Amino acid sequence: MKKIIITGGAGFIGSHVVRRMVTTYPDYEIINLDKLTYAGNLENLKDIEDKANYRFIKGDIVDADFIDRLFEEEKPDGIIHLAAESHVDRSISDPSAFVMTNVIGTVNLLNAARNNWEGAYDQHRFYHVSTDEVYGALGAEGLFTEETSYDPHSPYSASKASSDHFVRAYGDTYGLNIVISNCSNNYGSHHFPEKLIPLAINNIKHNQPIPIYGKGENVRDWLWVEDHARAIDLIYHKAAGGSTYNIGGHNEWTNIDLIHLLCEIMDRKLNRPQGSSAELITYVTDRAGHDLRYAIDSSKLQKDLGWTPSITFEEGLEKTVDWFLENGEWLENVTSGQYLEYYKQQYKD
Ligand code: NAD
Repeated sequence: MKKIIITGGAGFIGSHVVRRMVTTYPDYEIINLDKLTYAGNLENLKDIEDKANYRFIKGDIVDADFIDRLFEEEKPDGIIHLAAESHVDRSISDPSAFVMTNVIGTVNLLNAARNNWEGAYDQHRFYHVSTDEVYGALGAEGLFTEETSYDPHSPYSASKASSDHFVRAYGDTYGLNIVISNCSNNYGSHHFPEKLIPLAINNIKHNQPIPIYGKGENVRDWLWVEDHARAIDLIYHKAAGGSTYNIGGHNEWTNIDLIHLLCEIMDRKLNRPQGSSAELITYVTDRAGHDLRYAIDSSKLQKDLGWTPSITFEEGLEKTVDWFLENGEWLENVTSGQYLEYYKQQYKD
């Protein structure tokens, strides 16, 4: 399984997965297939772009002919599929793009894998990287396990649930060697600033209001992105065919507590008086259908494959803030143009 196509490798998590695979396995050939939407950025991979075992191919997974040709020409041993429309708010304003990329794009990849790997499915792997949001929302108690029924609420989670179902169906029906992982919220370097943590870092840096949905009481389980990439590496290599793994940090935070911690770190790093960043917190109309709580039981992954998160949230958040402050140019580049229009539209009230 040495020639691997990683889809969505120019995005946030994908770039960490590509970097990990390229640097950990010099004898592998890693192909990064990405359409370079607003969320894809080759700057994320500047440090490894010249490595001999890395190649970038620009392309759209929605284009079935292109995907078929790519599989025929490249003959990959495996695929780690991350390409997706990933932002819940955008799925609420325009669900169609989510159906096209997340559902149709995934089915196109499955069809290409089915046709090209026929007769040797056991020697090839189809790995779908998914989200815990497919399980719906929890009350104050309980955790999502691999057996939790699917109950997606947003167009984003509905599209990811659908693609998970297709991946499993191709495993059950045709015998494709599939694995799926469902992970909680990631944070870390190269995170696109439409998402809560980098958006807040960017706004605090520029003394702009930090928009918080509702009362900030929604709970999310946060995982450092490099720990997710390490889990993906392990699952790709070690998981049994047909298996599913939940990945999470046992690290639940209400949005408002998280933002207060972030404000405290930012005050310290920017040498501002403690409490000044927190004054920027501004409550805005809640997201439609906003799930109250997600929390993941990742004990199967810990027991079967020995994976545990490597750092605490406080350590990870410090590292993340340091990265964003040291990479001001990256942040300025991705927050110009289109981003400003999106931001104005999203937070207009
Ligand atoms: P991202 O939005 O940062 O990156 C997505 C990448 O996919 C971009 O590089 C984009 O250019 C590419 N892409 C989009 N449409 C494409 C298409 N039609 N063809 C080819 N490439 C296309 O997303 P992310 O946050 O890195 O998430 C990656 C994956 O992990 C997604 O499948 C997401 O559902 C899943 N996931 C994300 C999180 C999280 O917290 N961000 C948590 C769990 C699971």
